[in-house]
Amino acid sequence: MDSRVIAMLVLHLGRVTSGDGLVEGLTPGQWTVLRYFARANRFSRTPSAFAAFHDTTRGTASQAIKSLVAQGYLRQTRSETDGRSIRLDLTDKAKAIIADDPFEALVRGADALPPGVRGHFVNALQRMQGHVASETGKPLFGTCETCEHLEGEGCCVEGLRPYACGFVSEPLIEEELNEICINFAPGKSPPRTPGVGAA
Ligand code: SF4
Repeated sequence: MDSRVIAMLVLHLGRVTSGDGLVEGLTPGQWTVLRYFARANRFSRTPSAFAAFHDTTRGTASQAIKSLVAQGYLRQTRSETDGRSIRLDLTDKAKAIIADDPFEALVRGADALPPGVRGHFVNALQRMQGHVASETGKPLFGTCETCEHLEGEGCCVEGLRPYACGFVSEPLIEEELNEICINFAPGKSPPRTPGVGAA
């Protein structure tokens, strides 16, 4: 298939599942924010990481986040370590509507892929992401499953957690392995099944 057609299809998938009107009273832009914070790991649930993921300015990201905090969809917590950085989490009000996200149509499309196809598909997408990131200089996001910083094999050795992040030197729980991370660095092959700790 022509490379330009592949690129157009990838773009089209993203566009048609972004939504084109209010859903649950939220705009497509507001859904974009909620979706990110629902799937980003604890090191990436910050306004600056969101701005990087969506290639927008810090100011624009902060405004969008502020309005969702004011409406009770996001809760902000100051970091316990430095007291300056802010972490954002979905509130129960947001969790109650997140399944209505227009993007879920794309998730169902991914769900319908046979397990044997998923590894190849992730591999192809990550290779495309890598090319785009090196051409544009934009950060590359991904999950622990294929990150070179992931340590541990899931085995319970006495005194050690089954998984850890070598980049931030912190243990990871299995549920975190499938979350989006700003510190991702490609290095491992994708698993053959959907997720080391698939949700
Ligand atoms: S292992 Fe990689 S993707 Fe996972 S938390 Fe660490 S840097 Fe992020």
